[in-house]
Amino acid sequence: MQSPIEVGVLGATGMVGQHFIRFLARHARFKIAWVGASDRSAGKKYRDATAWRLDGAMPASVADLAVEECKPGNAPKLVFSAMDASVATEIERAFAQAGHTVVSNSRNHRMEADVPLLVPEVNAEHLASLAIQKANRGWSGQIVTNPNCSTIVLTLALAALKPFGIRNTVVTTMQAISGAGYPGVPSMDITANVVPYIGNEEEKMESETQKILGEFAQGAFQPHPMGVSAHCNRVPVVDGHTEAVSVDLSAAPSEADLIAAIDGFRGLPQLRNLPSAPPRPLIYMTDRDRPQPRRDVERENGMAVFVGRLRKCPVLGYKFLCLGHNTIRGAAGAAVLNAELMESEGLLG
Ligand code: NAP
Repeated sequence: MQSPIEVGVLGATGMVGQHFIRFLARHARFKIAWVGASDRSAGKKYRDATAWRLDGAMPASVADLAVEECKPGNAPKLVFSAMDASVATEIERAFAQAGHTVVSNSRNHRMEADVPLLVPEVNAEHLASLAIQKANRGWSGQIVTNPNCSTIVLTLALAALKPFGIRNTVVTTMQAISGAGYPGVPSMDITANVVPYIGNEEEKMESETQKILGEFAQGAFQPHPMGVSAHCNRVPVVDGHTEAVSVDLSAAPSEADLIAAIDGFRGLPQLRNLPSAPPRPLIYMTDRDRPQPRRDVERENGMAVFVGRLRKCPVLGYKFLCLGHNTIRGAAGAAVLNAELMESEGLLG
């Protein structure tokens, strides 16, 4: 049996940090050995520094760890980052410079020209950009990012349709409250209501989708040449982003062709049987009123995307619904799967 790989979590006390702690505490290969946060928390035990807000108890294996400041030095070589975006740029760079692999959930480096924005089933080959990153920056470490929570759900579904030539897509999201962190959207705004604005979310979905579905060729990312239009809404759902998608394809597949492509979609994580990989990353649901966040989002450990209601769209060709767990597949689970892929590629040193 292989010995565990020690990992650290930057921003371990925050909402996404807690999701990392919960996800990693039961991980087969990674072992939490270090937790970092701001100087407000440093020096305290994790249990005292953290207002634990997830279902279930704080993992006992982490509760007594001493929180450290987010400075490279004592942390393990592999760190997951869930830091506040206002500080993530400089701190993540400092860790990479000091030789750490930073697998980040923050938005700060996602769109940089030498940073992979990774969805392991979709664009594992983008890891080749790490060689350019090393040459450009002179770091002995590296930074890899995962996309925004709503983008991951969309790109997984679109990846299955890419062989049919995606020209344009229009997506309307119904995004869970947990995506806004804690305390999130005021209850007076979200109770029995829809809030049709999430700051910068539409721009992120549009640009990140093109980068992820694009190629890394001749040392540069080539965005996928497709139009993406996103409408993002916050709805009174606790967990699970639901997305209504219309697509314009250059080929003329039948509905059966598309459903077969969705159901048959697999990536490197499945081929390599990575610990957090769902056996099927996309699951097509045939009931006409599914997927639904309350009924479906926790299935497959929150790591699969559920697709349903594929039908003709009189404007763009086809339309369908997809659903994914925003804090698991859209955040902590996504980053952990990125690290698992990197380990399987021999990229963790
Ligand atoms: P959060 O609850 O406010 O947590 C922020 C974390 O950053 C805390 O651990 C905090 O430590 C730490 N921090 C703050 N200032 C710091 C500093 N100067 N040095 C080091 N650490 C510092 O935020 P969140 O909702 O978890 O979001 C974290 C990141 O994930 C953000 O970049 C966000 O955009 C991204 N994200 C969030 C979600 C979501 O669902 N919430 C989804 C996707 C991505 P203290 O406890 O000591 O203050």
